[in-house]
Amino acid sequence: MSIPSPGLRPGATIGMLGAGQLGRMTALAAARLGYKVHVYAPDAADSPCEQVSAASTVGGWDDLDALEAFARSVDVITLEWENVPVPAVEHLARITPVHPGAGVLSVAQDRIAEKSFVNGLGIGTAPWRAAGSAAEVARAVAEIGPRCVLKSTRLGYDGKGQARIGADTDPAEAWRSIGVADAPDAGIVEGFVTFTCEVSVIVARGADGAMIAYPAVENRHKNGILDRTIAPAKVSAATAAEADRIARRIAGALDLVGVLAIEMFVTPDGGVLVNELAPRPHNSGHWTMDACLTDQFEQLVRAVCGLPLGSVDHVADAEMENLIGDDVLRWPDLLAESGARLHLYGKAEARPGRKMGHVNRLFPKGSR
Ligand code: AMP
Repeated sequence: MSIPSPGLRPGATIGMLGAGQLGRMTALAAARLGYKVHVYAPDAADSPCEQVSAASTVGGWDDLDALEAFARSVDVITLEWENVPVPAVEHLARITPVHPGAGVLSVAQDRIAEKSFVNGLGIGTAPWRAAGSAAEVARAVAEIGPRCVLKSTRLGYDGKGQARIGADTDPAEAWRSIGVADAPDAGIVEGFVTFTCEVSVIVARGADGAMIAYPAVENRHKNGILDRTIAPAKVSAATAAEADRIARRIAGALDLVGVLAIEMFVTPDGGVLVNELAPRPHNSGHWTMDACLTDQFEQLVRAVCGLPLGSVDHVADAEMENLIGDDVLRWPDLLAESGARLHLYGKAEARPGRKMGHVNRLFPKGSR
């Protein structure tokens, strides 16, 4: 039997930066293949990931001694949160390989760097301008057009740190509402895209450059949070192929090792614009847990351990429903529903807007 070189053998320990549900589901996939996970995060204690991991360290992103001890205790490091500070990743990488690495993170943590990178590959995004003050927001809106979305350049998620701008919006009020201090490039103004739907593609790439991508899926949001994923997306073959091409092009150009989700807008002419990148497993890939031969979490384990990537074939079509906040109270009904596969994240408190679990519903391929 041949073990790929320099692949890590089952029994090795994967370090996980971040302790949420994405880490948890990666740790479960790792365990299925005989790997252990050691999770590191400031909030690791009794976290979704710690509950299913072999070891944990509660440590800050600036605690160099704790980071170093962690790096020495694991064979490879990956992450489930793309905002891990780059200096922490650089410190870890001096001791143990980190995939995806600091270069990928510095692009994905900053919407301006991200859009510049994507546009530099000849791939379209919404028109955008950097803005560091209310006056710069006003100037950007004058250039782009009256309908825009203002976002904080860093650390936004699920629609947080964002403001819609219309013809009647006061730019100063919009700037105040996203809660960032005046500073060059602190914000980004994007033209509002009139899309027919939002899609995403998840691509996995190994250190040898091997790549696989799941089919494009459609994502529907409620209150800025992903509500449902429909897999595969009901888009034309040409649109699906373009989304796939874009995803592979970006993963290759980033020299990614790991898993990358690319969120995209489909325009009325069937064209595709990139919205954002997430270099980790993604909520829109949870359907793969029950519908695909290899799920996105196992692909991450395979990619970072230097193993061959798995088949992305899907044996069923699927619809994933997120359980947000009190939705999770429906768990007894969901367990009783035939054809529904329930996944809960072990979070004690169902706060509004908090992702508590998800349900996958499967359908015969091509039946919907
Ligand atoms: P984001 O945090 O960038 O993923 O944005 C959250 C959601 O806001 C997206 O999934 C879209 O539904 C919407 N959105 C973000 N940017 C734009 C845009 N430029 N035009 C239209 N809708 C947007």
